Order: sequence, then C-alpha cells, then structure tokens
Amino acid sequence: MLPVGSKWSPRPGVTLLGDAARLMTPFAGVGVNAALADALDLSRVLLKRKVNFEADLPDNLADALQEYEGPMFERARENMEKTWGGLQHHFSANGVDDRGRAKQREAAKLGEEAELREKAKRWEQGTLPSLSLQQRV
Ligand SMILES: Cc1cc2nc3c(=O)[nH]c(=O)nc-3n(C[C@H](O)[C@H](O)[C@H](O)COP(=O)(O)OP(=O)(O)OC[C@H]3O[C@@H](n4cnc5c(N)ncnc54)[C@H](O)[C@@H]3O)c2cc1C
Repeated sequence: MLPVGSKWSPRPGVTLLGDAARLMTPFAGVGVNAALADALDLSRVLLKRKVNFEADLPDNLADALQEYEGPMFERARENMEKTWGGLQHHFSANGVDDRGRAKQREAAKLGEEAELREKAKRWEQGTLPSLSLQQRV
C-alpha cells in the first residue's frame, strides 16, 4: 500500500489512475470502483477540451490533468483511509470486538433514524399524540 494521501507533483503529459495512482489494501472492496471513477473523470476532462485540443497541446493537457488530479487525489485519500482502517480491523487483536461495537453504533443510529421517520410520518398524518411541555423541552 502507498501511504495515505500520497500525491505527486504535476508532470507534463503524464498521469496515473487506478492502483498505479494509489495502491490500497483490499480491505474495503473499493479498488475497482475507484479505478473506474478515475478513468471516467480523466476521459471527461479530456473530452471537455476536444475542440482545438491540439492547437495548444501542452497547455490543454496540463489544464486537463490538473482538473483530473485534484479530485482524484481527494477520492484516493478517502478510499486509502477506509482500506487502511479495514486492514487494522481485520488484523488487530481487538478487531472483532471493535467491529462489533461499530456495528452496534450503526444499528443504534439506524434505529433512531427509523423512529424519527416514523414520528414524522405520524405527525404528517396527525396521529402523533401531542407532547406535554416537559417532553417538548
Ligand atoms: C486480494 C484482493 C482482493 C480485492 N478485492 C476487491 C474487491 O472486492 N472490490 C474491489 O473493488 N477491488 C478489490 N481489489 C482491488 C482491485 O483488484 C484493484 O484496485 C484493481 O484491480 C485495480 O485495477 P487497475 O486496472 O488499476 O490495476 P490492475 O488490475 O493491477 O491492472 C494492471 C494491469 O497491468 C498489467 N501490467 C503491469 N505491468 C505491465 C507492463 N510493464 N506492461 C504491460 N502490462 C503491465 C498487469 O498485468 C495488470 O493486468 C482487490 C485486490 C486484491 C489484491
């Protein structure tokens, strides 16, 4: 794995995508999607400049690569952090417990959100019992 947040200085006419740009651990299952997103973004910035692209090739290419690399580095950093966290959970002595606690927190949050959605629905339907002043504060 490359260090989280790895970047390179702009190089005229050269860039990278996929694992070549930000090799990660496989512990988040995101590498292929990130590589496809890189390819899509790179093709978009090039296509945007297709009219007269060759008239000023070095500048057009430099602009296109700058527009591609900024967001790509940001996406890479987020995904690298995620897979690095995944690796630590898989191989740490407390990994299973940590993962269990994280899942419990997620479930509790989802439960709270579901309860709020249900309350909102009942409020819209006018079936939510009115709250006492104490409950409101
Ligand atoms: C065990 C494991 C499990 C994974 N599980 C998932 C998952 O579940 N979901 C997910 O999204 N991602 C997963 N990944 C990550 C995913 O496989 C990679 O992120 C993805 O394949 C990167 O694609 P890429 O095209 O950038 O590089 P690669 O797939 O590595 O393609 C590079 C290609 O270039 C070729 N090549 C290298 N050098 C040369 C050369 N000099 N000349 C010509 N050709 C060359 C290689 O042979 C290779 O075919 C996993 C990775 C591993 C290792």
